[in-house]
Amino acid sequence: MQYRKDRAGEALSVLGYGCMRFTRKGGGIDLDKAEREIMAAYEAGVNYFDTAYVYPGSEAAIGEIFERNRIREKIKIATKLPQYLIGSREAIDRIFREELARLRTTCVDYYLMHHVTDVAMWEKLKKVGILDWIAEKKRSGAIRNIGFSYHGNTDNFLTILNDYDWDICQIQYNYFDELSQAGTAGLRAAAAKGIPVVIMEPLRGGKLVDLPQPAMKLLADSGRGWSSAEWGLRWLYDQPEVTVVLSGMNSLEMVRENCIVADRARAGEFTAEDRRTLAAVSAKIREKEKVGCTGCRYCMPCPRGVDIPGAFRCYNAMFIESKSQGRFQYAQTVGLTKEPAFASQCIGCGKCEQHCPQGLPIREKLKEADRALRPLPYKLAIHVARKFMFR
Ligand code: SF4
Ligand code: SF4
Repeated sequence: MQYRKDRAGEALSVLGYGCMRFTRKGGGIDLDKAEREIMAAYEAGVNYFDTAYVYPGSEAAIGEIFERNRIREKIKIATKLPQYLIGSREAIDRIFREELARLRTTCVDYYLMHHVTDVAMWEKLKKVGILDWIAEKKRSGAIRNIGFSYHGNTDNFLTILNDYDWDICQIQYNYFDELSQAGTAGLRAAAAKGIPVVIMEPLRGGKLVDLPQPAMKLLADSGRGWSSAEWGLRWLYDQPEVTVVLSGMNSLEMVRENCIVADRARAGEFTAEDRRTLAAVSAKIREKEKVGCTGCRYCMPCPRGVDIPGAFRCYNAMFIESKSQGRFQYAQTVGLTKEPAFASQCIGCGKCEQHCPQGLPIREKLKEADRALRPLPYKLAIHVARKFMFR
């Protein structure tokens, strides 16, 4: 296992254990199976375990496993505050106490504001006193490092990143998503500030494992002998700005394979040829896309606040991944921000089209995208969720 450093110079395994996808049995987690998998990873050197308050049964399961095996002091726990459920400082206290009890610990190594998509969410937390709360928990030693996990656009990520002295951040990132969410720009900005970056969705929820046949052929022809998953993971480890790559492992085989890659991959090992191979693979995946938007953002900002590349990315996800995935991503990254950025807000001024290097008929495509991404039930669900979140 290889290790990279956090801000305090502590060694974190480059492979982190994502504890959201344990095998379930009966009404809960199959604890014995999860224990075998966790301990296999631990024996192979994994020391970073990522969970969250809202992952069903996960905090309690790993708390029990670490206690049973007496390894709490040898590993790092990252868990998260469901900030979208928080309306008061008392609520933060109550949830945190519950998390410590579930995890059977007196201290959380990395505590992250969960699922931040927008600057407004961070501002709301500040209003209920999160800054004092963090300072107090750090003073008492109940929290060692503070961070946030992020799913919004690049601009908001950079604003939040620069608004506080974070110890860590977590972003969705993979070779197909270099320009979406925090993206490469966000990764590099965090690393430039010395903030460790934890990567989630390194294989885009498995989409970079089950590739279209022509893309699989490109990988096979490369002569590297790496599996599709290994290509995705090695692309991340190649970047020294990446600190930990999370994998939601739920079989011993997966643990073994991921640990081997994490042991062998090196930062800076990718050649120009390797990059060309992955660019060609991405192009093959993109052949299924509806809009040839590269995410360059030359069309932004839109005077009506439309997230143009965000809307097109979600529209394309409907065809590359699944309808529901595209719609879910649209609700999450475009709809659940304080100022929504729906394609339907477009008034057709045409300013964006003058700047698009791809010459896209942006206005026409936005209409098409919004219709597909937000059928009536989704409109209603987003409306209700917004009322709850921004009450
Ligand atoms: S045409 Fe629509 S999307 Fe483009 S800049 Fe004008 S309002 Fe924004
Ligand atoms: S300028 Fe064109 S290609 Fe670039 S993000 Fe905007 S719509 Fe996409």
